[in-house]
Amino acid sequence: MKFCSQCGGSVTQRIPSGDNRLRYICNDCNFVHYQNPNVVVGTIPLYVDEQGEVKILLCRRNIEPRHGFWTLPAGFLENDETSSEGAQRETIEESCANIDNLAIYRVFNVAHANQIHMFFRADMMDGSFSTTSESSDVRLFGFDDIPWSELAFPTVHKALVDFVADHSGGDFAIEMIDIDHGYWKAMIESVK
Ligand SMILES: [Zn+2]
Repeated sequence: MKFCSQCGGSVTQRIPSGDNRLRYICNDCNFVHYQNPNVVVGTIPLYVDEQGEVKILLCRRNIEPRHGFWTLPAGFLENDETSSEGAQRETIEESCANIDNLAIYRVFNVAHANQIHMFFRADMMDGSFSTTSESSDVRLFGFDDIPWSELAFPTVHKALVDFVADHSGGDFAIEMIDIDHGYWKAMIESVK
């Protein structure tokens, strides 16, 4: 940050009195610009086809970061929307899928990226979906066909690993998990 969004003045990093962290503070109007984590919300869209086979909808990213890699539909929560509303909106924006019955499944603390990722289980109400400006490809994958080595983010990977494991037992216990730098490497090694 270089300039104050309140008055356009220059900012410098200082610790405000009574605080214990460096903050960007305006040199002109003294406004303190607090910066806090962003929330990413997404879904695990589930579809049962005519043969009774269970499938998950994945999107191939048409945008950076991780352009060309597969992801669960997800994106940043907006102001004035609930986490499940945001997850449903992002799913529509990235896949045009018609989903319902959202249920929270995983909350990931991604502290090194200043983010919290929330994934909801969701039912696809029909088999319709399509590519969008954000997704160059959208496809249903059976559990045996999930492109594990081409997934975009560690939290997507972990959500899918857990979901596939839980699905056989039918018990989708909610968990909160911390994801650190080493997690991605360990997960990739585990599926080779
Ligand atoms: Zn200012």
